[in-house]
Amino acid sequence: MNREQIAREIIATCLKMNALGLNQGTSGNISARYQNGFLITPSGVPYEKLTPEQIVYVSNEGEYEADKVPSSEWHFHLSCYQARPELNAVVHNHAVNSTAVSILNHAIPAIHYMIAVTGTDHVPCIPYATFGTPELADSVKEEIKHSKALLMQHHGMIAMEVNLEKALWLANEIEILAKLYLKVLPIMESVPVLSQTEMQRVLEKFKSYGLKTK
Ligand SMILES: [Zn+2]
Repeated sequence: MNREQIAREIIATCLKMNALGLNQGTSGNISARYQNGFLITPSGVPYEKLTPEQIVYVSNEGEYEADKVPSSEWHFHLSCYQARPELNAVVHNHAVNSTAVSILNHAIPAIHYMIAVTGTDHVPCIPYATFGTPELADSVKEEIKHSKALLMQHHGMIAMEVNLEKALWLANEIEILAKLYLKVLPIMESVPVLSQTEMQRVLEKFKSYGLKTK
Protein backbone atom coordinates (compact mmCIF):
# COMPACT_ATOMS: atom_id res chain seq x y z
CA MET A 1 0.00 0.00 0.00
CA ASN A 2 1.20 3.52 -0.70
CA ARG A 3 1.22 6.34 1.84
CA GLU A 4 -2.18 7.72 0.89
CA GLN A 5 -3.85 4.31 1.07
CA ILE A 6 -2.46 3.69 4.56
CA ALA A 7 -3.46 7.22 5.65
CA ARG A 8 -7.01 6.56 4.41
CA GLU A 9 -7.11 3.26 6.28
CA ILE A 10 -5.94 5.01 9.48
CA ILE A 11 -8.78 7.55 9.18
CA ALA A 12 -11.32 4.78 8.46
CA THR A 13 -10.08 2.92 11.56
CA CYS A 14 -10.46 6.10 13.68
CA LEU A 15 -14.05 6.46 12.53
CA LYS A 16 -14.78 2.78 13.26
CA MET A 17 -13.24 3.22 16.72
CA ASN A 18 -15.67 6.07 17.37
CA ALA A 19 -18.58 3.97 16.07
CA LEU A 20 -17.61 1.16 18.46
CA GLY A 21 -17.79 3.67 21.33
CA LEU A 22 -14.16 3.10 22.28
CA ASN A 23 -13.04 6.68 22.02
CA GLN A 24 -13.54 9.80 24.11
CA GLY A 25 -13.30 12.98 22.01
CA THR A 26 -9.92 13.21 20.28
CA SER A 27 -8.09 11.36 23.05
CA GLY A 28 -7.34 8.26 20.97
CA ASN A 29 -4.66 7.89 18.37
CA ILE A 30 -3.89 5.32 15.70
CA SER A 31 -0.76 4.48 13.69
CA ALA A 32 0.54 2.02 11.11
CA ARG A 33 4.07 1.04 10.15
CA TYR A 34 5.31 2.73 6.98
CA GLN A 35 8.77 2.59 5.41
CA ASN A 36 11.43 3.38 8.04
CA GLY A 37 8.91 4.51 10.66
CA PHE A 38 5.13 4.90 10.93
CA LEU A 39 2.16 7.07 9.98
CA ILE A 40 0.10 8.48 12.87
CA THR A 41 -2.94 10.68 13.49
CA PRO A 42 -2.15 14.36 14.12
CA SER A 43 -2.61 16.19 17.41
CA GLY A 44 -6.12 17.39 18.26
CA VAL A 45 -8.00 17.04 14.95
CA PRO A 46 -11.53 15.56 15.22
CA TYR A 47 -11.67 12.32 13.23
CA GLU A 48 -14.55 13.50 11.03
CA LYS A 49 -12.34 16.34 9.78
CA LEU A 50 -9.19 14.30 9.18
CA THR A 51 -7.74 14.26 5.67
CA PRO A 52 -4.98 11.89 4.44
CA GLU A 53 -2.62 14.87 4.07
CA GLN A 54 -2.88 15.56 7.82
CA ILE A 55 -1.60 12.10 8.78
CA VAL A 56 2.00 12.50 10.00
CA TYR A 57 5.06 10.41 9.16
CA VAL A 58 7.38 9.78 12.12
CA SER A 59 10.71 8.02 11.47
CA ASN A 60 12.19 5.27 13.65
CA GLU A 61 14.59 7.95 14.89
CA GLY A 62 11.63 9.99 16.18
CA GLU A 63 11.83 12.71 13.52
CA TYR A 64 8.68 14.04 11.86
CA GLU A 65 7.67 16.39 9.08
CA ALA A 66 8.36 20.03 10.04
CA ASP A 67 4.94 21.34 8.97
CA LYS A 68 2.91 18.71 10.86
CA VAL A 69 2.31 17.85 14.52
CA PRO A 70 1.85 14.16 15.37
CA SER A 71 -0.29 13.04 18.29
CA SER A 72 1.36 14.02 21.58
CA GLU A 73 1.51 10.29 22.33
CA TRP A 74 3.72 9.34 19.35
CA HIS A 75 6.57 8.34 21.69
CA PHE A 76 4.87 5.17 22.85
CA HIS A 77 3.76 4.30 19.32
CA LEU A 78 7.46 4.38 18.38
CA SER A 79 8.22 2.15 21.38
CA CYS A 80 5.66 -0.38 20.16
CA TYR A 81 7.22 -0.58 16.67
CA GLN A 82 10.68 -0.95 18.18
CA ALA A 83 9.56 -3.68 20.58
CA ARG A 84 7.47 -5.81 18.20
CA PRO A 85 8.98 -5.90 14.67
CA GLU A 86 6.40 -8.51 13.57
CA LEU A 87 3.39 -6.26 14.34
CA ASN A 88 2.41 -3.26 12.20
CA ALA A 89 -0.44 -1.24 13.71
CA VAL A 90 -1.19 0.44 17.04
CA VAL A 91 -4.58 1.55 18.41
CA HIS A 92 -4.70 3.67 21.56
CA ASN A 93 -7.78 5.01 23.33
CA HIS A 94 -9.30 5.96 26.69
CA ALA A 95 -12.24 3.53 26.44
CA VAL A 96 -14.30 3.73 29.63
CA ASN A 97 -14.07 0.18 30.97
CA SER A 98 -10.40 -0.36 30.15
CA THR A 99 -9.54 3.00 31.68
CA ALA A 100 -11.60 2.19 34.79
CA VAL A 101 -9.60 -1.01 35.34
CA SER A 102 -6.37 0.95 34.73
CA ILE A 103 -7.29 3.29 37.60
CA LEU A 104 -7.18 0.26 39.90
CA ASN A 105 -3.65 -0.44 38.59
CA HIS A 106 -4.80 -4.00 38.08
CA ALA A 107 -3.98 -6.51 35.36
CA ILE A 108 -7.10 -8.21 33.97
CA PRO A 109 -6.60 -11.86 34.98
CA ALA A 110 -7.70 -14.94 32.99
CA ILE A 111 -11.43 -14.37 33.65
CA HIS A 112 -12.32 -15.62 30.14
CA TYR A 113 -10.40 -17.70 27.61
CA MET A 114 -10.49 -14.78 25.15
CA ILE A 115 -7.80 -13.15 27.28
CA ALA A 116 -5.45 -15.21 25.05
CA VAL A 117 -5.93 -12.58 22.31
CA THR A 118 -3.08 -10.74 24.04
CA GLY A 119 -0.76 -13.69 23.38
CA THR A 120 -0.49 -14.26 27.14
CA ASP A 121 -2.75 -15.11 30.11
CA HIS A 122 -3.66 -11.61 31.30
CA VAL A 123 -3.92 -7.98 30.21
CA PRO A 124 -1.07 -6.21 32.01
CA CYS A 125 -1.29 -2.72 33.50
CA ILE A 126 1.75 -0.45 33.64
CA PRO A 127 2.12 2.12 36.46
CA TYR A 128 1.23 5.75 35.88
CA ALA A 129 3.59 8.09 34.04
CA THR A 130 2.72 11.47 32.46
CA PHE A 131 1.36 11.22 28.90
CA GLY A 132 3.79 11.99 26.11
CA THR A 133 6.90 11.33 28.23
CA PRO A 134 9.88 9.08 27.46
CA GLU A 135 9.25 7.46 30.86
CA LEU A 136 5.82 6.24 29.75
CA ALA A 137 7.22 5.17 26.36
CA ASP A 138 9.98 3.10 28.04
CA SER A 139 7.46 1.38 30.25
CA VAL A 140 5.23 0.58 27.23
CA LYS A 141 8.25 -0.77 25.34
CA GLU A 142 9.00 -3.32 28.08
CA GLU A 143 5.42 -4.52 28.53
CA ILE A 144 4.29 -4.71 24.89
CA LYS A 145 7.04 -7.32 24.33
CA HIS A 146 5.04 -9.73 26.52
CA SER A 147 1.47 -8.79 25.61
CA LYS A 148 -0.11 -7.36 22.44
CA ALA A 149 -2.41 -5.23 24.58
CA LEU A 150 -1.92 -3.37 27.83
CA LEU A 151 -3.48 -0.87 30.20
CA MET A 152 -1.76 2.32 31.36
CA GLN A 153 -2.72 3.43 34.85
CA HIS A 154 -4.99 6.52 35.03
CA HIS A 155 -4.84 6.72 31.23
CA GLY A 156 -6.20 4.04 28.87
CA MET A 157 -5.22 1.10 26.69
CA ILE A 158 -2.92 0.16 23.82
CA ALA A 159 -3.55 -2.67 21.34
CA MET A 160 -1.00 -3.77 18.72
CA GLU A 161 -1.52 -6.23 15.89
CA VAL A 162 -0.36 -7.24 12.41
CA ASN A 163 -2.65 -4.69 10.71
CA LEU A 164 -5.11 -1.89 11.53
CA GLU A 165 -8.20 -4.05 11.25
CA LYS A 166 -6.86 -6.58 13.75
CA ALA A 167 -5.52 -3.89 16.10
CA LEU A 168 -8.97 -2.30 16.32
CA TRP A 169 -10.55 -5.72 16.80
CA LEU A 170 -8.08 -6.42 19.62
CA ALA A 171 -8.83 -3.06 21.27
CA ASN A 172 -12.53 -3.89 21.23
CA GLU A 173 -11.90 -7.36 22.73
CA ILE A 174 -9.87 -5.77 25.56
CA GLU A 175 -12.69 -3.31 26.26
CA ILE A 176 -15.18 -6.22 26.48
CA LEU A 177 -12.87 -8.14 28.85
CA ALA A 178 -12.51 -5.01 31.01
CA LYS A 179 -16.29 -4.63 31.08
CA LEU A 180 -16.71 -8.27 32.16
CA TYR A 181 -14.08 -7.85 34.85
CA LEU A 182 -15.78 -4.75 36.27
CA LYS A 183 -19.11 -6.61 36.33
CA VAL A 184 -17.80 -9.48 38.47
CA LEU A 185 -15.40 -7.52 40.69
CA PRO A 186 -18.08 -6.05 42.98
CA ILE A 187 -19.84 -9.41 43.35
CA MET A 188 -17.01 -11.68 44.40
CA GLU A 189 -14.13 -10.90 46.68
CA SER A 190 -11.90 -13.24 44.75
CA VAL A 191 -12.81 -13.41 41.05
CA PRO A 192 -12.54 -16.98 39.68
CA VAL A 193 -9.93 -17.34 36.93
CA LEU A 194 -8.86 -20.05 34.50
CA SER A 195 -5.86 -22.12 35.60
CA GLN A 196 -2.44 -21.60 34.06
CA THR A 197 -2.66 -25.09 32.54
CA GLU A 198 -5.95 -24.28 30.84
CA MET A 199 -4.64 -20.93 29.57
CA GLN A 200 -1.59 -22.70 28.11
CA ARG A 201 -3.96 -25.04 26.27
CA VAL A 202 -6.02 -22.09 24.95
CA LEU A 203 -2.91 -20.17 23.89
CA GLU A 204 -1.77 -23.25 21.94
CA LYS A 205 -5.16 -23.53 20.25
CA PHE A 206 -5.10 -19.85 19.30
CA LYS A 207 -1.72 -20.44 17.63
CA SER A 208 -2.73 -23.43 15.56
CA TYR A 209 -6.26 -22.43 14.60
CA GLY A 210 -5.64 -18.73 14.18
CA LEU A 211 -8.19 -16.03 14.90
CA LYS A 212 -10.66 -14.88 12.36
CA THR A 213 -11.34 -11.19 12.63
CA LYS A 214 -14.12 -11.06 10.10
ZN1 LIG B 1 -4.00 8.73 25.69
